[in-house]
Amino acid sequence: MSGRLNLVVLGKQGAGKGTQCKRLSEKYAIPHVSTGDILRAAVKAGSNLGREVADVMSAGALVPDELVIRLVDDRFKQSDAQRGALLDGFPRTLAQAEALEALLGDDGIKLCINLDVPIELVTERLSSRRVCQECGAIYSDSDIEAISGTCANCGGDVVQRDDDQPEAIRKRLETYERDTAPLLSFYESRGLLVTVNGDQSPDEVTAAIEAVVREQGLA
Ligand code: AMP
Repeated sequence: MSGRLNLVVLGKQGAGKGTQCKRLSEKYAIPHVSTGDILRAAVKAGSNLGREVADVMSAGALVPDELVIRLVDDRFKQSDAQRGALLDGFPRTLAQAEALEALLGDDGIKLCINLDVPIELVTERLSSRRVCQECGAIYSDSDIEAISGTCANCGGDVVQRDDDQPEAIRKRLETYERDTAPLLSFYESRGLLVTVNGDQSPDEVTAAIEAVVREQGLA
């Protein structure tokens, strides 16, 4: 189990975690593990799990800790996660952060990257966000793909997520402040927290994260 590069990416919804994790996953050859993506896939597939979480997710609330912890535990057992993982959207509560430490043992989290973006900007980003239902590509409402409703990568439908509607956005950001923001002090107290300014171009954010990972001698 030693030498795994397990990185947690924290930040408000719309801070750019998904975009950055996709890039870093390629760069470091470790999987992007997004609990939101896993849960959305379950909802789309209409599985038991999907039916259990669909309403909670559309309302912008959190699904139960035990359920996501089990999903992450299963994901870590897959072969591609043996060198580490980029965790996006997990942990989201203190109970999940503690469970994650228990799951990973001594070979725990190497770094927690906090993508810092002001609330006004994330609200604007989430309201204008459109996603491809097939491949997950992210667009803005002014992009031609969003206007035509067709993804340039795969031809899938480009739509607005239920939880990117105004009431759900408000609820999700409130949930972030209450349940997830305390994780910043949790990781800070372990000397693992690094804050990166997320209010820059995606390329600049990627470069800033890569610089931190290099400085810490992690890759
Ligand atoms: P995300 O794509 O990360 O914004 O997640 C979308 C939704 O999935 C959230 O609003 C929650 O309903 C659910 N979800 C994702 N990750 C978690 C988690 N770690 N704990 C609880 N609920 C989660």
